[in-house]
Amino acid sequence: MLRLYDTRRRAVVPFRPRSSPITLYVCGVTPYDTTHLGHARTFLAFDVLVRHLEAAGRAVRYVQNVTDIDESILQRATRDGVSWRDLGRREERAFLADMRRLGWRRPDVMPHATREMPAMRAMIDALLEKGCAYDITGGVYFDTTRARHFGELSRLSAARMRRMLAAQDDAALDDPERRHPVDFALWRQVPSGPRWPSRYGRGRPGWHIECSAMSLRHLGPRIDIHGGGNDLVYPHHENEIAQSECATGLRPFVGWWMHTGPVRLEAEKMSKSLGNMVFVRTALERAKPQALRLYLLDSHYRRPFDHDEAELIRARERAAALAEALGRGPVGPLGRDGATREVLAALDDDLDTRTAIRLLERGAAKASVDAKRSLRHLARRVLGVL
Ligand SMILES: [Zn+2]
Repeated sequence: MLRLYDTRRRAVVPFRPRSSPITLYVCGVTPYDTTHLGHARTFLAFDVLVRHLEAAGRAVRYVQNVTDIDESILQRATRDGVSWRDLGRREERAFLADMRRLGWRRPDVMPHATREMPAMRAMIDALLEKGCAYDITGGVYFDTTRARHFGELSRLSAARMRRMLAAQDDAALDDPERRHPVDFALWRQVPSGPRWPSRYGRGRPGWHIECSAMSLRHLGPRIDIHGGGNDLVYPHHENEIAQSECATGLRPFVGWWMHTGPVRLEAEKMSKSLGNMVFVRTALERAKPQALRLYLLDSHYRRPFDHDEAELIRARERAAALAEALGRGPVGPLGRDGATREVLAALDDDLDTRTAIRLLERGAAKASVDAKRSLRHLARRVLGVL
């Protein structure tokens, strides 16, 4: 049985989905720069999760958003002298091309923020009606004192939340008149740039309301798994819980919160803001997609991942050796041989892809003809390393 770590409960818990299909929402990209290994690692972890569930015959409905309007897109577009729409479209196409090369199981729905304004406004209306939000001069804010469980996901002190909130890209746009310093914007009136009409003035939605509104519209009020990088725990996901639970009155909004560890370069997190990135397309010049997948999946998804060129080269050799050991024949059904069972058990253990890959490597050499067919199934269809 699959067991997954839930950030909210801080424990590995047997996965018992509420629904069929299983509902999965992953926070996607803000397309203004090239896909780096940090993105790839996060999305590949969920890719393997979905493939693992689907290989076991379970249906999954996977939604991943595209934040195509955001302060970071606007800032980059101004810097480069291009339109924010063109920049977003171009970078989104590049992201999809990179992920396609990596064999990504594409989400069933990829909603875009700019096309979901009615759903966001409807949710803001519901929050105002329930008294969880207030309308002031600069926009509409969520009243965090109305969320009884606020802080349950991140378990941070109010002082720490304040500091982290102040460091966000859009903090400068926040109304200093809001009631509490950790109250966050649902809608901001802005004097210029792209704006949408609303009964609270022309403006732009806050980032967090995007994911609450889209997950409600595409997956319903309660979802099985919500994922993203662990830098999203606060404020993004904490605020999503507050909004969604207040708007729908249902709790918990999410059964399993899954967060991936950062990819680091020389002990610093790889990020657009630091500019210390290794791009997927650069890595793919040195290694085939299967080898890059093996490299990125060769560590537990919750742990930080330290990029190491020598290991990437070694992953190339390991992927070639695995292909050699498994042979060229057809992919068979999942068998009941020992090696197959061990690999599946590793994946069931909070998606331990590192152990799964190592068991696959060990089992491949001595497997029978039938077992090899089954292991090829795991290597190709589930882990994508063959
Ligand atoms: Zn999100």
